[in-house]
Amino acid sequence: MNDNIVWHQASVSHAERNAQKQHQPALLWYTGLSGSGKSTIANAVDRKLFELGCHTYVLDGDNVRHGLNKDLGFDDTSRVENIRRITEVANLFLDAGLIVGTAFISPFLADRAQARSLAGQRFIEVFVDTPLETCEQRDPKGLYKKARAGDIPHFTGISSPYEAPENPEIHLRTAEMSVEGAADQVVAYLRSRGIVTA
Ligand code: ADP
Repeated sequence: MNDNIVWHQASVSHAERNAQKQHQPALLWYTGLSGSGKSTIANAVDRKLFELGCHTYVLDGDNVRHGLNKDLGFDDTSRVENIRRITEVANLFLDAGLIVGTAFISPFLADRAQARSLAGQRFIEVFVDTPLETCEQRDPKGLYKKARAGDIPHFTGISSPYEAPENPEIHLRTAEMSVEGAADQVVAYLRSRGIVTA
């Protein structure tokens, strides 16, 4: 890094920001196959938290790829860089005191471990555990059809691996529960940790 770039101390401290809000900052890191329900559940949780008066934001895979990460593809190197940038952005939001949800396939254990090490105690891994067959039946964006036809290279679950979390803080088996039920489980977890008290 350039020696002339020096970290500037903020005039409002992290503790002051947290005290102003009625909750602790947290990073809900949703991971799972395409179509597993990450965006749907992240947004359902976001709505619930918003209504409880929490300050929140969802970083969604497709949305980030429209802007910040539009120069990145889906090969392994690009996926790693995709997650690295998202983690850095999420970390800034944590510093601002928000409860952040990230909805990215994030298929590799090592990348999620990197995100965890950066966010520390605030990192909450949410495994959106949906069998491949169910994701493929749902196919909300028609991507599995294209991937099976060979039109999308490096498609997670088909032609690129998904490394399931070994010890997620929250495990959602969506084939056995409603979106509402999954969102309630996440909010209950945040309450159990004292992150949300409302
Ligand atoms: P992802 O963000 O993981 O790619 P999406 O949230 O975009 O997945 O799509 C998941 C799809 O599955 C949505 O159309 C959603 O309505 C549907 N769905 C059906 N049942 C569930 C469930 N129990 N949990 C989450 N999503 C569900």
